[in-house]
This record gives sequence, C-alpha cells and structure tokens, in this order.
Amino acid sequence: MSVKTFPLSKQALEALTERYPTPFYLYDEDAIRRNGAAILKAFSIFPSFKQHYAVKALPNPFILKILADMGFGADCSSLPELLLADMAGMKGEDLMFTSNETPAREYRKALELGAAINLDDYTHIEFLKRTARIPALISCRYNPGPLKEGNAIIGKPEEAKYGFTREQLFAGFALLRDNGASRFALHTMVASNELNPEYHIETARILFELAVELQERIGIRLEFVNLGGGVGIPYRLDQEAVDYTCLAAGIRKAYDAIILPAGLDPLGIHTEWGRVITGPYGWLVSRAIHRKSIYREYIGLDACMADLMRPALYGAYHHITIPGKETAPLTEICDVVGSLCENNDKFAVQRRLPSINTGEAGDYGEAGDLAVIHDAGAHGRAMGFNYNGKLRCGELLLRPDGSICLIRRPETIDDYFATLDREALKTFS
Ligand SMILES: *Cc1c(COP(=O)(O)O)cnc(C)c1O
Repeated sequence: MSVKTFPLSKQALEALTERYPTPFYLYDEDAIRRNGAAILKAFSIFPSFKQHYAVKALPNPFILKILADMGFGADCSSLPELLLADMAGMKGEDLMFTSNETPAREYRKALELGAAINLDDYTHIEFLKRTARIPALISCRYNPGPLKEGNAIIGKPEEAKYGFTREQLFAGFALLRDNGASRFALHTMVASNELNPEYHIETARILFELAVELQERIGIRLEFVNLGGGVGIPYRLDQEAVDYTCLAAGIRKAYDAIILPAGLDPLGIHTEWGRVITGPYGWLVSRAIHRKSIYREYIGLDACMADLMRPALYGAYHHITIPGKETAPLTEICDVVGSLCENNDKFAVQRRLPSINTGEAGDYGEAGDLAVIHDAGAHGRAMGFNYNGKLRCGELLLRPDGSICLIRRPETIDDYFATLDREALKTFS
C-alpha cells in the first residue's frame, strides 16, 4: 500500500493559484532531501557509492542544485543536459555521460567538462578516438540480451538498441586499454519503473560476475559498476515503494559473494536513478473547468497531455485527488481529460472520484475544484511538448521553510513564436 499526500492545504493551494494560475508543477524540496538522505544511508554499506541523477527526469537546474548539495551527481544524455548539470555546479566525474547515437560535438563537450563517458557501442571507440580522444576513465554499457528478462516499459534487452553484446565488451575494453584508457567502468540498464528489488539485485549480480570475468580473461580491473536507472515508484495505491535498505543489503550480499572472493574489493557502486529521486515529490496542479455528459461523464482540466503525457503514452496510472475532498465518497465515475485535439488526452479513464465542481470557471466567476495529479515529479513536465499550440506550464518549488519559489516560469506566446522569423514572414509571398 502507498499513501498519496500533498504538502499544502486546500486554502494554501487556492491562495497560491492567485499568484500563479494553474496549471503548474509543484515540487517539495524537503521531501526530495529526506528521500535522498535515506538512499545515501542505505548505500553507505558500500566502500563507495555515487548516485547520478538522470537529468532527463526533471531537467531543472534548481532541482539539480539541491541534488548536488546532497552529494549527487548527474546522468546526462545530451549536450543541453550536460550544460544544465554544469549550471547547477556539478563537475567532472560527478557527471556521467550515458548517451547513444552521440554526435561528436557532444562527446567533445563531455570530455571538456571531465564527465565520465559511457560508450553505447563498440564502434564508438573508434569514433571517439577519431573525433575527440580516448580519456583515461571510460565506461561501457552492457546489453545482456537474452541473458536477462526485460520489463514492461523498457522491453526485452535483446530488442533494445542500447549497449554492447557480451563478446563486444571484452574486445571493447581491450581496445580501449590499447588506446590509452586506464580506468574502467561497466554500466547496464535493463529495467524501467521496476518495483521488485530482486530485479535490481539480479542486475548487480550480472555486473559483478562480468567484473570478475573481465579481470580473469583480459586483466581489466573495474573501478565501478553503474546499475543505471529504473527503480520504480508506487503510482498505484496498492503498490509498495522499494525498500532502499533491503535493496542495498541484497546488492551487498551479491558483492560479498562475488566481488570479495575475487579480490576486486573495493568496487564502486553507481546508480543513475531519476524517477525514484523526484517522482513522488512532484505534482501537476490543475483546475477542473468543464463538465461534459455524453456517453460517458467527462471532467475537463486546464492541463493537458502536453503537460504530462505518461497516461496517454503508456496508459500510465497517475493518482488524482481533489483538495478539500480527500475523504469524500467516490461518487463520480469519469474520464479526466485535457484540451488537446487527441482522444487519448486523458489523465484518467473511468476513474472513481469525489463529486467534482467544475464551476465553468472564468465566465461565470466561480472557480472549479482544483485537481492534483500525483507522482509527476519525474518524466512529467520534461516530456512536455507544444503540439496544438499548447504552452508548457511553469514549475514551483516548496522550500523547507515553507516559502514557494518559481523555478521556471510558464511559457508565453512569444516563446512559442521565438523560433519563427516574423520579419521574413512579412515580405514572404
Ligand atoms: C532514463 C534513464 C535513466 C533514469 O531512469 P529512471 O527510470 O528515471 O530511474 C537512467 N539512465 C539511463 C541511461 C536512462 O536512459
């Protein structure tokens, strides 16, 4: 069982919407910090542990600064993500550059920043050598193929485009060493939103066994293994959060069984978690503005899938609460929808909710109920887009002292037009 909470009372949230009109994202700094501290404590049983936050999950440098303050690094996959992490003060090997189909200029920027480069393919060794240089520290991404079962979001490893095959890894590390690399790391990511700790422990075991084999077969001694991202969060009420202590203990058990006897201790443990770091501590706050009764009952929000596309993209469940009606009986069965000209623009389908007042806001002077969409702190606003001329909403941060700070303003129509040359348009015929 998981419990869905929201850090502000209905009154405080209504007051906030006078300053910042809906829709907007709200993140809870204190909750992010407490969660991060719990992770660091659980993983302190390893000789060294580094968590690189997957920037793509919430690419806001204010959030990255909080994470940097806690000692987290960043996992970047593009040049702009590298720049965001740099902007937040994350430096050198705190940056992990896990990209694929990477342009040369992005590798060059990663090298310039001193990031740890994680190669996605055997051919990238030659590519990196020719277009930039082989750095001392280098990581390779492993795709276990049929040796590991995948999960729903990421699919089967043998159908995934990422990483080296097993044999390519041995050849790759040897080639990297021949080209001057002297510090080595191994990465894999085979799951997404996986709540079963055993799955992640098994991933660690696979990497530990490979670490031993790399040492035995080609004399490569790894400095760290990177378990990637993919730790899930309980989006649904009947799901349970991953117990970090239990997860760390399971990985430690595999470490003791495989790494210690092989004489490979100390081996660093790195992670690239995104979702589990900020997901539960962010909410999309919206207002119900229309009700429509046709073959089904519809509640229209002022947010749409351009603000949060997970439900439309994956059929993902996001819990919805109505502030002030948290304990009210669930008398409504409705689809909660946005305004996009796309029928899958639905935050919830046939959901049981308390009776919702839509107020027919604005025109009639009465405001509808607020609707809070939970677990939107990762892969939420970041996946937003401008289809249908939708402007992406802003982001607010609740600070530990209770103050609220605007960490990204909403987009304006001028932002939307900024990539058009409107002068050229005047004389265009
Ligand atoms: C997306 C991604 C992550 C983060 O995944 P989460 O599910 O948010 O933990 C980490 N590493 C890589 C390479 C990714 O593509």
